[in-house]
Amino acid sequence: MPELPEVETIVADLRPHLIGRTVVRAELRFPSIVRHPEPEMFVDSITGLRIEAVGRRGKFILVALDGARLLVVHLGMSGQLRLVDSAAEITNHTHVMLDLDDGRQLRYRDPRRFGRLLLGTEEELLTSGTLPKLGPEPIDPSFDAEELYKRFRRRRASLKSLLLDQAMVAGVGNIYADESLHRAKLRPDRAAGSLSRKSVRRLHESMRDSLELAIKNRGSSVDTYRDAWGETGNQQEKLLVYGRAGEPCFTCGRPLSIVRIAGRSTVFCRRCQR
Ligand SMILES: [Zn+2]
Repeated sequence: MPELPEVETIVADLRPHLIGRTVVRAELRFPSIVRHPEPEMFVDSITGLRIEAVGRRGKFILVALDGARLLVVHLGMSGQLRLVDSAAEITNHTHVMLDLDDGRQLRYRDPRRFGRLLLGTEEELLTSGTLPKLGPEPIDPSFDAEELYKRFRRRRASLKSLLLDQAMVAGVGNIYADESLHRAKLRPDRAAGSLSRKSVRRLHESMRDSLELAIKNRGSSVDTYRDAWGETGNQQEKLLVYGRAGEPCFTCGRPLSIVRIAGRSTVFCRRCQR
């Protein structure tokens, strides 16, 4: 599933190409991928709108349009948002096509269909519950270790489950939760409230390092992730633990363990992570 670094890569690539463009036509080939408003309303409302900004919040892509409206894209498990020439062949599982006034098309493709598109004002989307309330951005300079410490305090839930909770910190999923905990030398099943300030500081820094390194390497294509041009990222070759269960830990050589925490497979080193 695309996480913060993958979504950030797409957003940064699309931004200079989308700002100032107008959506001249919209086509839904799989209408129920749009969760708000009704699909016919979506097509009518988005047509003629100009793109003013392109941003990210957690794993959500936010395209700001005229009239304070937002086009929100969540890639789910296998979603891909691509910018192509409108004459390009339409591949399988292309569910949404937005024609832009420069002859290009923004296409949403999603084989597993767990993704979603929303259109509305931020308030409307929050009120309808289609856009959830999200926690702070882990790479935002204003989010410091003390804030994370406060959020963890007295929590009995495991570190892994809290890192995956989008209301706790936004944008971290299975890959970067495991990577961050390994870098911080912390066991994923430890109760979050048991951490000292010093350990939380280490985790805060490790999380930032894991995410920023992955952004630098254009994300991890461990599954179906592709950037806005259809290319794979490079971070998958550099992951320390994710996808490496049974392989030797890069630090101590012991085979990495795999357990299930919060319903998700979790890879870690029993010797290095305490
Ligand atoms: Zn180890």
